[in-house]
Amino acid sequence: MMDLQQLQTRVRALLEERNAVLLAHYYQTQDIQQASDHLGDSLELALQASKTDADIIVFAGVDFMAETAKLVNPEKMVLHPNTRAQCPMASMVDPVALKRIKEKSPDVPVVAYVNTSAAVKAESDICCTSANSVEVVKSLDAERIIFVPDSNLGLYVSRMLPEVDVIPWPGFCHVHQNIKVEDVLSLQELYPAAETLIHPEATPMVLTLADFVGSTRGIAKRVVDSSADEFIIGTEEGLVHHLKGLRPDAEFYVVPPGLCPNMKRITLLDIYKSLESLETPVELDRELIARARRPVDLMLKIKRRA
Ligand code: SF4
Repeated sequence: MMDLQQLQTRVRALLEERNAVLLAHYYQTQDIQQASDHLGDSLELALQASKTDADIIVFAGVDFMAETAKLVNPEKMVLHPNTRAQCPMASMVDPVALKRIKEKSPDVPVVAYVNTSAAVKAESDICCTSANSVEVVKSLDAERIIFVPDSNLGLYVSRMLPEVDVIPWPGFCHVHQNIKVEDVLSLQELYPAAETLIHPEATPMVLTLADFVGSTRGIAKRVVDSSADEFIIGTEEGLVHHLKGLRPDAEFYVVPPGLCPNMKRITLLDIYKSLESLETPVELDRELIARARRPVDLMLKIKRRA
């Protein structure tokens, strides 16, 4: 039986042997984050996937993230180490229903949060992440948009861009949706000097309690720039490993529930086995890749301009 350090060493050796790269989302466990080549949010990882020289991409994140890596790099093998790691919010949009809505409103662009399946991306005009949602919607110069699937992020964009009529799909992330006003207030009473940093997937009422609203990357930047040394964090607890590395002097208090069981389905052992067996490769048909890639590429161009 290998201990954790041995397992990390074996994973790193196999990555080298296979000329593979391990991309890990901030919400992964600490042992996976430590073994990864690149740690980031959806946008950073999509960019990394689009420019890697490796032959194989191993994606430690939920299903739509591995699919997005495949979309931007279709000729490479993309391995998803545990196919049960699926995002429930991504499955809240039915591509057939979305297609019918589009047929009824052909002039209204569809903005798809990157947390969507390839089939939903294929029905969308442009993708966004929580890090660039406002810039993406602004770039469309549209009076009205349909935003899928996260209603809270859609409402956040609507508040940031009051001139745009945002029609949000009624989806949500259970981790952020379940952050309660009373839990944030309790932590604020306990730690009155702490800054409260919350992800825009939380409800509008919870966001009114934040000193700063931002994506995981935005929260990390704020922690580095801030003079505070205590932070109340309203997102998944995995991010705190990264934040502690950035500010070892600071204390972090995660608002419950703060844990995504879907992200945590992937273990370091899964990654090791995946590299050994080359299972499970993401398979998407060419026609779907061509249609779903377009809105992702459009988003990445906006990121590069920013
Ligand atoms: S944190 Fe929310 S959006 Fe992210 S994978 Fe988990 S359920 Fe999906």
